[in-house]
Amino acid sequence: MIPVVVVGAGPVGLSAALALRAHGLPVLLLEADPEGRRRPGSRALFVHRETLRLLDGMRPGLAAEITGYGQTWHTRRTLYRGREVYSRTFPPPSGLVPFTSLRQVDTERFLLAACAEAGVEFVWDAEVTNVRTGPEEAVLTTADGRAFSTRYVIAADGARSAVRAALGIHMEGTHGDGFHVVVDVSDVPGAELPLERVFHYEHPGLGGRSVMRVPFTGGFQVDLQCRDDDEREEFGTEEAVRRWLPAVVGEGYDERILWVSTYRFLRKVAASFTDPHGRVLLVGEAAHLFPPFGARGMNSGIADAAAAAEAVAAGTADAVAGFDEVRRAAGLFNSAAAGAALDHLRPQRRIVRVKQRAAATLAPVLPWCGSWLEHAPYGPRHGAPATAGKY
Ligand SMILES: Cc1cc2nc3c(=O)[nH]c(=O)nc-3n(C[C@H](O)[C@H](O)[C@H](O)COP(=O)(O)OP(=O)(O)OC[C@H]3O[C@@H](n4cnc5c(N)ncnc54)[C@H](O)[C@@H]3O)c2cc1C
Repeated sequence: MIPVVVVGAGPVGLSAALALRAHGLPVLLLEADPEGRRRPGSRALFVHRETLRLLDGMRPGLAAEITGYGQTWHTRRTLYRGREVYSRTFPPPSGLVPFTSLRQVDTERFLLAACAEAGVEFVWDAEVTNVRTGPEEAVLTTADGRAFSTRYVIAADGARSAVRAALGIHMEGTHGDGFHVVVDVSDVPGAELPLERVFHYEHPGLGGRSVMRVPFTGGFQVDLQCRDDDEREEFGTEEAVRRWLPAVVGEGYDERILWVSTYRFLRKVAASFTDPHGRVLLVGEAAHLFPPFGARGMNSGIADAAAAAEAVAAGTADAVAGFDEVRRAAGLFNSAAAGAALDHLRPQRRIVRVKQRAAATLAPVLPWCGSWLEHAPYGPRHGAPATAGKY
């Protein structure tokens, strides 16, 4: 049988390869980077329960491996200008955890090992530069002149997808002003910070900028929300982080900074998730880009991967068209949800700030006001989750 080709060994491409193997299909995975590459940063920290279920369906036991390594905290704390407005400790769940938190590089390590065990064939140093599709097949070419022909391609080659570009599929959406700074910091052994997620609106020690701290195994991620007119040099370099980090977590972390990155907010969804012949299926960031609030990027990408593999296994034009329709709708839903969170976190309208201030003032007497402040940064709580629309 001709292998299905997956492009890209990020978390979504690895999941697609696993899902295809679970359907009994042979898989060839083309990755531009060399074998043994090291990817930086925590990035997508949260693996949602629905995603764990999907991964376990692809490779039984994988969810237990990932949750065995990741962290699940049970306390959420929200502060407003130095004053606590919400704090809740949830009882540990009896079944599968609601989420687990680990650095993306660690999630990828588990996925890569699972792919190797499942018999996925890897071709490293294989940068795809072009793709041609016809009614029966797709032909991919790489930078070094190799050609791979196959019946189906699952393209998971990330935000700058060469496959998507070669097919001439446009991304539709917007980009926001301003940037966030993301910092990974390792724990001080024996003096770990409390295992809780803390969101601080308008932190007084940061000139009123909002900041979040999220634990992961071995350390924590700090996410600082800069203003539209802030300069990167002021906040987004390692030297700058050394200046402002003590306001968030206290002294003693200077030498523990593992990674500093800045990012802007893109909300974009591909105009189509397949080519006109239905031979290439776009998944993950090749198909959509969201701000990270609600942890929708990787989680929805893994749902895309599961749906794409199911459509390829069915092997009919209807199944591929169904994938396109359902996952694109999920992409648009997630884009809107992440946009709602962005409006809350970077209010462009004065009324939103006024509402937040009023909620903080009323929180001691009206607990739902604190609860609203706690939940709002993650976008709508109800309706379809990040993994919505599994085909
Ligand atoms: C700072 C930051 C914070 C984030 N936080 C979160 C979060 O909290 N929650 C969340 O869910 N998501 C988060 N994300 C997003 C998350 O990192 C992405 O959603 C995730 O990496 C997407 O996975 P992917 O597999 O689609 O793409 P990628 O991880 O980008 O993988 C693409 C792969 O394709 C390979 N490739 C690229 N081009 C080619 C080519 N031409 N040929 C062959 N191979 C190619 C690349 O080398 C790479 O291995 C964050 C991202 C950033 C940058």
